[in-house]
Amino acid sequence: MSRKFRDYTIKRTCTKKYKNYPDYKPYLKQDFSHRCAYCNLIDSGITTPFEVDHFIPRDTFKDEWPECETLYENLVYSCKKCNLAKSSYYKGNISKRVIENEYFYNPVESDYGEIFYRNDAGGIASDDIKGRDMINKLKLYRPIHNLAWICETLKSTRDKLNVQIDKVGKDTKQGQLLLEAKNELNEYYITCNEIFLENYNNERFTLELYSKE
Ligand SMILES: [Zn+2]
Repeated sequence: MSRKFRDYTIKRTCTKKYKNYPDYKPYLKQDFSHRCAYCNLIDSGITTPFEVDHFIPRDTFKDEWPECETLYENLVYSCKKCNLAKSSYYKGNISKRVIENEYFYNPVESDYGEIFYRNDAGGIASDDIKGRDMINKLKLYRPIHNLAWICETLKSTRDKLNVQIDKVGKDTKQGQLLLEAKNELNEYYITCNEIFLENYNNERFTLELYSKE
């Protein structure tokens, strides 16, 4: 797996109009490739349901531009943690009536793959000032994001080995060796995933512990 932060494009394909913004969730799920627009976490990896974030937050638009509530362009597929951390942060001029929030790169219009990358520990990093500010605001420095990436890397490597095993055949010597390697890798994956899930739910890896380094 590459160290690229994101290697797919987010689309906006929904042309329907709904009165309640949560009704857009199935479309967002598809358009955002089942991943959190901010931290890239995949929704199938955790039991906590993903949420619909308003790119321009409600506190900002509610009096000035209430239509923003159900404007598809203002809706973002987000994990609960990112939605919570993003909170009501807003910087911009709401009277311009444009979907803009200067604190954050728009995850649909900007290529996060160019702004963020994975560092040597699998954590989310950026060399860009605004990118770094986003990492702080959205708490993307949390160790759960390193763990999520390591889990995904192990899983995709395991899946690649499975393809190879199918190619050479389980009964060949090479197939046997590959199978052994795959089983070992799978154990690492399972362990890593257990640690990830446990920490995702109660964050036993505290931020204080992490920042002491
Ligand atoms: Zn997230």
